[in-house]
Order: sequence, then C-alpha cells, then structure tokens
Amino acid sequence: MRWVLLPPPPCFSGAVSFGLPTELLPLVRAAFAAATLRSLESKWRTWLAFCSEAKIKALKPTPTQICQFINFLMHHRLSRQSNLQAYISSIATLLRLSDSPVTIDSGLVRLALRGAKRLLAAIPVRRKAALGPSHLLRLRRCLQLQTGLGAALWSLILAGWWAMLRAANLCSLSQANVGTAVLISDLRLGLKEAWISVRLSKTNQFGERRHVVLLPCICKSATAPLCPLCALHHHFSRNSLDIAPPSQPLFSTLQSAGSWMSLTAAHVQRELSQLFHQAGLPRNRFSMHSLRRGGATFARRSGIAIEDIKAIGDWKSDAVHLYAGQQPQVASWAVCRIGAAVQAAF
Ligand SMILES: [Zn+2]
Repeated sequence: MRWVLLPPPPCFSGAVSFGLPTELLPLVRAAFAAATLRSLESKWRTWLAFCSEAKIKALKPTPTQICQFINFLMHHRLSRQSNLQAYISSIATLLRLSDSPVTIDSGLVRLALRGAKRLLAAIPVRRKAALGPSHLLRLRRCLQLQTGLGAALWSLILAGWWAMLRAANLCSLSQANVGTAVLISDLRLGLKEAWISVRLSKTNQFGERRHVVLLPCICKSATAPLCPLCALHHHFSRNSLDIAPPSQPLFSTLQSAGSWMSLTAAHVQRELSQLFHQAGLPRNRFSMHSLRRGGATFARRSGIAIEDIKAIGDWKSDAVHLYAGQQPQVASWAVCRIGAAVQAAF
C-alpha cells in the first residue's frame, strides 16, 4: 500500500467546512490558537489520506479502523506516545466538529493506545540536546558580536537560556505576524537586572496572566561572557533599540535609520544551525529548543528545585498555579542561584 497526503486540508477553509456557512469560518477558526490549528489540520490531512487509501469513511470510522490507523502511525511516523495521543485527540476533535455520531472512546481503542505506549517505550527517544555554559561559550566565540545581527543573536541565545523561554516567545513567525514574540514594551531594562514579561504562550493563549522572568547581571569585577543583562544592553546599543517603537519585537536588528527588522523563527533557526556547525556541535542534536532545555537542565544540576524551574520556564503543571501570585519573587530567587552557579563554573 502507498500512503499519500491529500493536498487540501479538511480544515475550516478547504473542502470540508463542517457544513458551516463561509462567513462563520473565521469565527470558528479563531477559537484555536494559530499553532493548534496548524497542528490539527496537519493531523487531519494524515487521517484523511489514510482513510482514502484504506477506503474508510473518515467521519464514521469503526473502532477497528481507528486501531488500524494507530498501527499505521506506529510504523510510519511516530516515536513518541504523546504524538500518538495527539493524533487520536485530533480525530476526536474532527468527529466532534462534524457532529459525527461516532466517538473514539471505545475499549478497543484504549487497549490499542496502551499497547502502543508499551511498544513505544522500548524505542529510545532522541530529544534535542541541552546546551550548557561551555557550549554557550563555544557559540559566543563564533559570533561577530560587533555586528547588529551578532549582538541580537547573542542576546536572544542568553535570554532563551536564562529565562528558559519558548522559541515562540523569542522570535516571530514572520515580519508581519509578531504573534507571541516578546516585544520591546515587554522588557524592563535596568542597570542591575532586566525583567521580561511574557504576555502569551502555549499555556497562556489568551493572556489571562503575565509570566515574568528575571535576567540578572552576573558580572563581578569584569564583564562576564555569559551575562544576559550585559548582552541585552549591548544588543540595545548596537541596534539602537532605545529609540525603536515599543511594539517592535525585542530581538530585532537595525536596518537603516529609523527602521528595524525582527528576527523571524526561520531566520534564527538558519543562523543557529550555522552557528552550531561552526562551534562543532552536531546540527541534528541541537536546536532553538536546546536553549530552554539547556537552561532547565543546568538549573536542575545546580540544585534548583524542580518547582522553581517550572516557575521560571512556565512549564504547565498543577504546581504552576501555586506560583501565580508570587512567581516573580520565586523565580528571581532561583535565577540568582543559577547566576551563582554559572559564576562558580568558571
Ligand atoms: Zn553583566
């Protein structure tokens, strides 16, 4: 059997519109965050392609047919149980949105998922590697810090590592769509510390709360190479960000007098990939996510409590709610301890 992807997604804009009148589509689409919608539509495409090939009614599958899909995913594109669960949830959403009488909550499907979990647990997962302080120093040596781009990238790298920021908060998807990227107005830049206020994220899609993180100055007598605050000040002066509009994404470079360009995800990924290569770090093992992961890993090794790390990186868990009111204080205390650990490492 040959598996092909159908070009038009069964989304709110394509051939399948769940019987909704066209003028209602934007309203219903807006219920989903952009990234969620992209992920749903990509999984629906896979499901529809599978159904078309296997002659299955996509909106009225039997439990056995859903198990066949699970089996297909296991052998073709998955190495993680969480991915598998996401595929099944997206089919459930598709069926619900289509008012299909079928639900996927059957005993057989649950059994198949459990079986898949056990089988997948035996396959080693290759996650992106964590970047530690020595890796960061290697990256720094390969950057041209005197250029606007070099200064912006270095500041982005350190902010991502120290504040354990998600890639979506570090840079925008495109020049026009700043999305969840941190803006200049989200930064409070002082001489001794900086605060970044993250308005939107995967776990905070409507901005009900503000996640605030501290970037400390770790310099003692001389400028420390891994100081996130000094990197920010350098980035600000190289790219004249003090006169940029507050709505400009924080990680932007000066193009010409009075004109800035934000670093997009594609641009940063390209630059980082090249940088990893120059620094002798295998490109397939590291990505932008290695910053967030690296900051958390180093903090853990330095003895920072897991709850404090969750508070800094805004990892979703029940415990995070406990920090809602006092998060900046808790996070700042923990970040200062990470600062001490970085200083002690050299
Ligand atoms: Zn400093």
